[in-house]
Amino acid sequence: QQPRALVEGHDLSHQVGAEVMVQMTDMNKWYGPFHVLRDITLTVHRGERIVVCGPSGSGKSTMIRCINRLEEHQTGRITVDGIELTDDVKKIEIIRREVGMVFQHFNLFPHLTVLENCVLAPIWVRKEPRRQAEERAMALLERVKIPEQAKKYPGQLSGGQQQRVAIARALCMTPKLMLFDEPTSALDPEMIKEVLDTMVALAESGMTMVCVTHEMGFAKTVADRVVFMDEGQIVEQAPPSDFFANPRSERTRLFLSQIL
Ligand code: ADP
Ligand code: MG
Repeated sequence: QQPRALVEGHDLSHQVGAEVMVQMTDMNKWYGPFHVLRDITLTVHRGERIVVCGPSGSGKSTMIRCINRLEEHQTGRITVDGIELTDDVKKIEIIRREVGMVFQHFNLFPHLTVLENCVLAPIWVRKEPRRQAEERAMALLERVKIPEQAKKYPGQLSGGQQQRVAIARALCMTPKLMLFDEPTSALDPEMIKEVLDTMVALAESGMTMVCVTHEMGFAKTVADRVVFMDEGQIVEQAPPSDFFANPRSERTRLFLSQIL
């Protein structure tokens, strides 16, 4: 059975090609004197689903935030869809349009309706006609199964619904890459599944995804590769079957024993 595409225009057949979507090479970052990311080298191919895990404070958020320049790296290189991230503001703008991000705390605009949250960037950043932006937003709200909430404000929705709005909002910019930073860790347990189901559907639609999450069930089901970080380094990366069955480093084994 063919999975339904969550975003029109994306490949239905999931195929991890050789095409590189994100390349980080010997990337280092400091917060003042604190060396937060150490020699990060990571390749994400188009269509690939990467799960990033590791202890709290290991640099997961900082690493994925470097991909859309919410954080700046100091040495090494990052390219996204072939564009190198430098101080060039034009390039940063292009990359931000191509990269959608979903945060732990949703970050919806509380004073705007769900629909307005969704059409804001398409209208103001991409200069799309309102009608067209609203049509796509409604289609995406349907895909995340909350079209009936379009006229409500975020505060009137459950956490799980708000997070699905956040996913729809990011998809409204038809991103080439989606970043997720612990999208379910602020949710009550009964709402985690609805958000994970949405992410699984997105993965099945062929979206390139980098997800920081400790949902190991999700990692086992959809990840092509699990990346384990500790103390600012990528300690190991492997397909989920290897990663869970044969963790190579002691640090990975310790981490898994604590969360599984
Ligand atoms: P994770 O997402 O894996 O929990 P983070 O990337 O948030 O880790 O943080 C990595 C380390 O960097 C932590 O020790 C954290 O305290 C520190 N850190 C994060 N953001 C800042 C900041 N803006 N300034 C200084 N230190 C920070
Ligand atoms: Mg984090």
